[in-house]
Amino acid sequence: MEDLRELLAAARNNNDFLRILYMIRWRDGFCCPQCGGNKGYQCKRRYRMQCMTCGLQTSPTSRTALHGVRNLSAWFRTIRTFTDSGQMNAIQLSGLLEIRYATAWLLLQKTRMVLACWMEKCSEGFSIVPAEQMKKALFKSDRESRKYKDLSETSSDFTRKDSKVILPVAARFVFYLLWIYRGISRKYAREYAAEFSLNAKSKQLDMLELLEIFVRASPVNKNDILARAAPDVILLGGAF
Ligand SMILES: [Zn+2]
Repeated sequence: MEDLRELLAAARNNNDFLRILYMIRWRDGFCCPQCGGNKGYQCKRRYRMQCMTCGLQTSPTSRTALHGVRNLSAWFRTIRTFTDSGQMNAIQLSGLLEIRYATAWLLLQKTRMVLACWMEKCSEGFSIVPAEQMKKALFKSDRESRKYKDLSETSSDFTRKDSKVILPVAARFVFYLLWIYRGISRKYAREYAAEFSLNAKSKQLDMLELLEIFVRASPVNKNDILARAAPDVILLGGAF
């Protein structure tokens, strides 16, 4: 683990990142994603494994949430934003990585989606909150978001009127969404709930723990993100 931390601190290019993912993915030995065989050898192309049973070559990112990613550096930097405050919006990320806003938005949404799937699989003790309770923070059009232009006014207004009638964790989530993002589209509530729940943990996940989640997760494509359906209930908190 210490070696990995040192490699992570020194990583600069795609090859460095592949090496790290290789070490994380097959830490406990090789497992072929096609036949489940556990005998393999490293190919001449570095960091690829070839299965001795079925012959499939597998890169450290094949069939993971990072499948097909060319710019691993951008991904690593995006995932890293979830290790500390985790409160970076797409405008800030596009500035940090010098990429288009739409690309930054997609990177963040994919990251949240992977984390949401992982959390729901491995966690328990969630508060289940009807999405209706959060309608102040769940909207999507610009016209509606203008209502929240004066955030201080919105926040005090919200606290006064609503915090007593909804679960405290839901009230904190609404406040978080208004404060950080000025509200979100309702169909992405599940993904932002995962981000919020990670932030609410007393001990945050570190970069290696997050990368482990990504190499164990299934691929996510753009259509998975765009085709999200608004959830009726939202899971918040949880012990994981
Ligand atoms: Zn195989």
